[in-house]
Amino acid sequence: MQNHSGHGATTIEKLRTVHVQASSEPYDAIVIGSGMSGGWAAKELTEKGLRTLVLERGRNVEHGADYVTEHRAPWETPFRGRGDRRAVEERQFRQSKAGPFNENTAHWYVDDVDHPYETGEDDAADEFLWVRGYHLGGRSIMWGRQTYRLSDMDFTANERDGRGTRWPIGYADIEPWYSHVERFVGISGEALGIRNLPDSEFLPAMPLTAVEQHVRQSIADTYNGRPMTVGRVAILTQAHNGRAGCHYCGPCDRGCTAGAYFCSLSSTLPAAQATGNLTIRPDSIVHSLVYDEEADRVTGVRVVDRNTKEEMVFNARLVFLNASAIGSAMILMNTKTPRFPDGLGNQSGLLGKGIMDHHFMVGANGEIPGFEDRYTFGNRPNGIYIPRFQNLPWDPSSNRDFIRGYGYQGGSSRGGWGRGAGMGGVGVALKQSLREPGQWSFSMFPFGETLAYDDNRVELTDQVDQWGVPIPRIVGSIRDNERRMRVAMQNDGAEMLEAAGAVNVSTWEAPYRLGEGIHEMGTARMAATPEEGCVDEWNRVHEIPNLYVTDGAFMTSAGCQNPSLTYMAFTARAVDHAVNAVNNGDLRV
Ligand SMILES: Cc1cc2nc3c(=O)[nH]c(=O)nc-3n(C[C@H](O)[C@H](O)[C@H](O)COP(=O)(O)OP(=O)(O)OC[C@H]3O[C@@H](n4cnc5c(N)ncnc54)[C@H](O)[C@@H]3O)c2cc1C
Ligand code: SF4
Repeated sequence: MQNHSGHGATTIEKLRTVHVQASSEPYDAIVIGSGMSGGWAAKELTEKGLRTLVLERGRNVEHGADYVTEHRAPWETPFRGRGDRRAVEERQFRQSKAGPFNENTAHWYVDDVDHPYETGEDDAADEFLWVRGYHLGGRSIMWGRQTYRLSDMDFTANERDGRGTRWPIGYADIEPWYSHVERFVGISGEALGIRNLPDSEFLPAMPLTAVEQHVRQSIADTYNGRPMTVGRVAILTQAHNGRAGCHYCGPCDRGCTAGAYFCSLSSTLPAAQATGNLTIRPDSIVHSLVYDEEADRVTGVRVVDRNTKEEMVFNARLVFLNASAIGSAMILMNTKTPRFPDGLGNQSGLLGKGIMDHHFMVGANGEIPGFEDRYTFGNRPNGIYIPRFQNLPWDPSSNRDFIRGYGYQGGSSRGGWGRGAGMGGVGVALKQSLREPGQWSFSMFPFGETLAYDDNRVELTDQVDQWGVPIPRIVGSIRDNERRMRVAMQNDGAEMLEAAGAVNVSTWEAPYRLGEGIHEMGTARMAATPEEGCVDEWNRVHEIPNLYVTDGAFMTSAGCQNPSLTYMAFTARAVDHAVNAVNNGDLRV
């Protein structure tokens, strides 16, 4: 298959999906969910020889053919990108609050009427925003592709400041699995060699603009070497593993036929299919798990067909939960047995509690004079990154009036003719002035760590949806620590811009709802004992040896880095553990 722009060939196979009926013959493994982490579970399990069934609640999506808005021009877009306001207000009133939602991406986001949830009672501050993509590939098609490792500082944070459950593992345990995943995914970026943000296995970095190079130098000069780098992204800067390099067209979140960015459809699921061990069943809504008290095992998965509403059970020796942090917690809660009356993995009473996210919607902007003779070409789908520089355990001078911290994304841009929409004036003089590009501006867009507050939670109500699955209630908010951080996030950004000679520097803050960062995590936290958390150091549900949870549910603290790389690395590590346990006879299944 030739990619759409002729920038190299891709060899991405069409995925075969089937509506298999349940059979008494068990699969070796079932993976619930085909998104970022489920794709990895499928790839690793099948490559280790296990006959694996992937159950995906959403529709089938064919890589390329179903990216229906990928090359749509603005004038072909009926509502000029804004979407049909009435339809959005009626059917996607929550999803449309997500920043990247627009007329060209709306079809990736769920219908809020079909997929309801309850939130805080009348307190707007308690409104949780749950942004979802229910289709083959999940949110791996929709993501921003920013890709950062956590560091030892992050894995020891809860223990160090006594806030939250202790992680039972450290950075050294996951480091080889980050490398394993990165070599397959293809991450472009620059090595910095710093402790607070370990380097990945990199493809060549995307270039910084002239303005970004200037700001980077000013920050390094002013703040004793504080680094600014180009974003680390799961986008190929050269052909890699049968996928083409990026050709800088720009609108990635509509889908990329070239396969230049990592998603399940371009990468992990085709690799799994190539083994001959994969079966994918879309339209399969997992209701709950089947737990056999005598065997002390999960033996199967209860499914409702999305279209026919037929109920069925699929059996397997191993089960991986990858339905996303809230989806997986719901499945565990909805599996009540005499031994686990409050849901599987809930001996601690903490299942569903402590939801975290990365808070944002705050930042600083300024104009950078002196680069009027410089311009950019192409649409680099990436920006800058400034790693966390607050509260570094080895540097007391970095301590602040809050714990944890934030890193900055953002970047430079130059005003185009569209700025005329906000300008006064008419006629030839106005049009003439818009023939020249506008000012260079620079935006600092930080993401901060949220702590795990147990009353930020998901629970099941006694209402059910049209498939008989209990509707969740999700509540949560940020607290004083995050609020103090948000002040510093603005001030530090403005200070760095001023150090770089920016003019018209301003700071801003807009209301932020928990979940809006679309990094929800921590509903089935990893802990050393079942009294402290849901899964053990191998992502295995405590006391259930053949059930693993490897999406963001297991996160015990959030760090401030975009989290998906960490979910992928823990998934690969957990599969390795599960298959070794089977092969060594430690796990009789
Ligand atoms: C606009 C946007 C930008 C983002 N940017 C970034 C970024 O730059 N960097 C980053 O690290 N992260 C980013 N994220 C977050 C990232 O997409 C998620 O962290 C990641 O997809 C989570 O992986 P997952 O496997 O847990 O869930 P998902 O990818 O959401 O996959 C879950 C899958 O499970 C299926 N499922 C759910 N419930 C059931 C059920 N009951 N039965 C069967 N199937 C079920 C869903 O349909 C879905 O396909 C972004 C997300 C969005 C939407
Ligand atoms: S800019 Fe995005 S959509 Fe375009 S080729 Fe690169 S990764 Fe694909």
